Amino acid sequence: MYLKNSVFMVAGVSKSGIAATEFLLSHGAKVYVVDEIENEKTGRAFDILANLGAEKVDSVVVEEKLSEIDVLVLSPGIPIDNRIPVCAKRLGKRIIGELELGFLYSNCPVIGITGTNGKTTVCTMVSEVLMKAGIENFKVGNIGVPFTKEIDKYTPETVAVTEVSSFQLETTQTFCPHIAVVTNISEDHLIRHYNMQNYIYLKSKILFNMKESEFAVLGYDDFVVRGFKDKTKAKVVWFSAKEKVDGAYIDGDMICYKDEEVFSKALLPAGGEHNLLNALATVAVCKCMKIENNVIAEGIIGFKGIRHRIEFVREFEGVKYFNDSKATNVGSTVNALSSMNGKTVLLLGGRDKEQSFDSLFEQLKDKNVDKVVLFGETRYKMLKSAEKASFEDVCVASNFISAVNLARTESKEGENVLLSPACASYDEFSGFEERGDKFVELVNAF
Ligand code: ADP
Repeated sequence: MYLKNSVFMVAGVSKSGIAATEFLLSHGAKVYVVDEIENEKTGRAFDILANLGAEKVDSVVVEEKLSEIDVLVLSPGIPIDNRIPVCAKRLGKRIIGELELGFLYSNCPVIGITGTNGKTTVCTMVSEVLMKAGIENFKVGNIGVPFTKEIDKYTPETVAVTEVSSFQLETTQTFCPHIAVVTNISEDHLIRHYNMQNYIYLKSKILFNMKESEFAVLGYDDFVVRGFKDKTKAKVVWFSAKEKVDGAYIDGDMICYKDEEVFSKALLPAGGEHNLLNALATVAVCKCMKIENNVIAEGIIGFKGIRHRIEFVREFEGVKYFNDSKATNVGSTVNALSSMNGKTVLLLGGRDKEQSFDSLFEQLKDKNVDKVVLFGETRYKMLKSAEKASFEDVCVASNFISAVNLARTESKEGENVLLSPACASYDEFSGFEERGDKFVELVNAF
């Protein structure tokens, strides 16, 4: 794809749309920008981009402008069946995402990490090990820094450690990481992707273009991910917390890789079974990169955890409070509960993502849960699922603040209070970060 004087339209002016536009303009392309949402934030983005030379298109007349363009760059927030890409497709235009655009023009190896849960954690762990190994790397993609944002700094000696979401995979065509990781797959984002079959297909797309010289690091303990071995030509490297696999696994007290002891499991930072899996995935990635065992150990042992992911807030009146606001699906909440010691009062609820909560309440029965406090838009849907599962220790709060206060009164000395809502946050907050920050603020104010 030739950039200079080519005509692009970037749809969606959030972080990745802005980065894609800046990248295209800096390479001499003509860029139209459009966003169906008109608010203060998009207004500010349009102003910045207009100053750089982009031309704003009113979303009402976008279809006329599309006939003038060569390529549509679609932001991950805009679904592929939105009227803008549908019209572009009808006109025979090429449609790519910001990740694909960046990949086409980058000259550094990419580690692509996807899965329903654990992406950010594995990205961060891998990045820490690479740093310890003296390999300059950039944490990019869905983690918050667009792939194209850092592109000028990439060289063949650096690595783009890229978190890849199912939204981004909707618009990849040639994207091909040197190492791909698929952590696990469970129900999520079904409003956007309609059904599990489509969601699973999108996740598997990360593997499609890989060749025999590349590595697919796959979670063996996840039945769906295990099946991905047939979707790629890349060398499959497994990780498992349950079985001795051809890859990273546990043997007694040791974390091992292909019959070799890497480091003692006892040295792992606390964080439950799921972080053990994330560490094993990291070991597999780093062994594929031929990093020394002691360096891998140093990077993983030094991992400090990430905010809003089972983050310890404080102990108050003998109760430990944990912020796991990033847990926005059932799978992550169940995992968070498994890493609690002792009984837990669980805060659940928020915006629906069309997931069923029936299995959640079935699983809660053997998770040492003292009480569930429901809040947010999903509270009555969750209550129905609790009733179906005959899970009786439930109370309902009218909003988030009351829910936190209720959790405080319901908890007893020696227990935990865990915010791990299994839902998106957009009913009351701008994102999971704001929800987690509010929780921390409320708990610190007791
Ligand atoms: P992602 O970036 O995929 O959303 P994160 O690393 O940010 O994942 O973790 C989000 C939440 O998912 C955490 O708060 C934790 O409760 C849960 N989690 C993390 N890693 C795993 C894993 N390997 N398996 C299941 N759940 C996990």
